[in-house]
Amino acid sequence: MMEIKCWDWTSKIPPCQAACPAGTDVTGYVIATAQGRYQDAYQALKDTLPLPAICAYICHHPCESKCVRGRVDEPISIKAVKRFVTDYAASQPQKGAGRVRKADGKKQKVAIIGSGPAGLAAAQNLALRGHDVTVFEALPVAGGMLAVGIPEFVLPRKVLNSEIDAIESLGIKIKTNTRIGKDIGFDELRQQYKAIFIATGKQNSARLNLPGMDAQGVIPALSFLSDANLGKLKKLQGKVAIIGGGNVAMDAARTAVRLGASEVFCACLEKEDQMLAFEWEVERAAAEGVKLFCGRAPQQVVTSNGKVSGLQFADVESIKIDSAGRFNPVVCKGTECTMEADTLIVAIGQSSDLSFLQGVKGLEFNQRGGLVIDPDSLSTGMPGVFAGGDITAPTGTAVEAIAAGKKAAMSIDRFLRGDSNGTGKLEVLVEVSDDNLPKFVERRKRQDMPVMDVSKRKRIFDVVELGLSEKVAVQEASRCLNCPMCGNCIFDRSQMCFKTASRLL
Ligand SMILES: Cc1cc2nc3c(=O)[nH]c(=O)nc-3n(C[C@H](O)[C@H](O)[C@H](O)COP(=O)(O)OP(=O)(O)OC[C@H]3O[C@@H](n4cnc5c(N)ncnc54)[C@H](O)[C@@H]3O)c2cc1C
Repeated sequence: MMEIKCWDWTSKIPPCQAACPAGTDVTGYVIATAQGRYQDAYQALKDTLPLPAICAYICHHPCESKCVRGRVDEPISIKAVKRFVTDYAASQPQKGAGRVRKADGKKQKVAIIGSGPAGLAAAQNLALRGHDVTVFEALPVAGGMLAVGIPEFVLPRKVLNSEIDAIESLGIKIKTNTRIGKDIGFDELRQQYKAIFIATGKQNSARLNLPGMDAQGVIPALSFLSDANLGKLKKLQGKVAIIGGGNVAMDAARTAVRLGASEVFCACLEKEDQMLAFEWEVERAAAEGVKLFCGRAPQQVVTSNGKVSGLQFADVESIKIDSAGRFNPVVCKGTECTMEADTLIVAIGQSSDLSFLQGVKGLEFNQRGGLVIDPDSLSTGMPGVFAGGDITAPTGTAVEAIAAGKKAAMSIDRFLRGDSNGTGKLEVLVEVSDDNLPKFVERRKRQDMPVMDVSKRKRIFDVVELGLSEKVAVQEASRCLNCPMCGNCIFDRSQMCFKTASRLL
């Protein structure tokens, strides 16, 4: 056997972990999975990533784009391995989101506004640090967009609810049906709590100014998805048009297919290869029969007796972005065409509703009305008030919101201990040069996440991604090059390093 030289990456963060906004210990759980130590894998995951099971279903996995294995053959299916680990943990009797440590200082009262991933992650982290946390949620259910935006065929409610139960088991109170600004004033909250984390996301669907937009049958995407997710909308008839080409548009289209629409099409300004939705979302929507009209700008909603009867659009010649950041398409004359539609769903973006902060003194807003925060600590101009997640991000994903919650919790904890300069900033991360790539790695094909057959999934809300079997998950995890070999790993990586390396040679 060849002599194994440990790579000089000791104590450094591997690129996959560096790419994860939440700093998840990716190699920790992937290597433990490769060795069949699934409980250890879950522990490594849970210790660094709040809401791990949710991420296992919906994360856009930026870790995979930086996976060093990708320079040898193909990146590891990290998200699929994570899904295997969290499904395994869910099948075991143990429960709970972690052990509560005693707060270093005095136990303090913290209020969190919004129970989306940012709010939940912050709540969990603060409770684990020993604080007394209450989450205020305007809706009747907890989870934010995880509950009312993302469809069940992407994130099963059983998975979401089990994560929320685990968080509540830490003693966190989640007060649903409580809107700050209506049921309780923001100033009142400030008097009752030592620190506040504002994580109210983006709840308003952007409006489009087109002739016919007030017609019956025009629905904002977030209302449509929320009604479908909460069981208020069970059936759709006729043809459905969707304006937009992002993830929300794809989820709305795929939901419309499952609700029984006879035909679903999406019209978006971007060309197909420039669409804002994740590639796999577009592929799955297309496979389920959603027609895509890319590079088309809607011109007017065609109506009949005050009701939607179609959508007229034209080819985009160019897209200009105005000073307010709005898309202004220039269309090619003479290319107008109309498609019949009985329902029109508008999915062109979301914005924050900050009306509950109106008149509150001490907070700073930018020219576009957004809340100003310090990006490192997530603190606002008002002492003890922090904000993060979608509310302060131009576009957002669940793992970014979770990372913001984690960061805010670290900053809030420091603030409560009297260290107002402290921030939740993660460590500076390492780049791996090609010189450090191991030689003689056997090429092995990546195992992608299997998905339910299109003919089966089109009319049901069951989760589309099926998960890896134990055998395949172990095989896939064992493709990991264990980048931080011989680091100070809780699982004794020095031993693992030898085993992994022998497997690789
Ligand atoms: C349809 C859809 C699909 C998506 N798919 C994915 C995906 O597949 N993968 C991915 O990573 N990301 C996805 N996202 C994005 C992801 O869901 C968001 O980035 C994330 O939920 C943002 O988390 P947040 O906690 O900042 O806000 P939210 O999840 O929006 O939660 C904010 C919460 O605050 C509550 N709230 C607002 N105002 C008040 C108030 N005044 N008082 C009390 N409560 C209030 C709201 O009711 C809400 O529950 C999707 C989003 C949508 C809309």
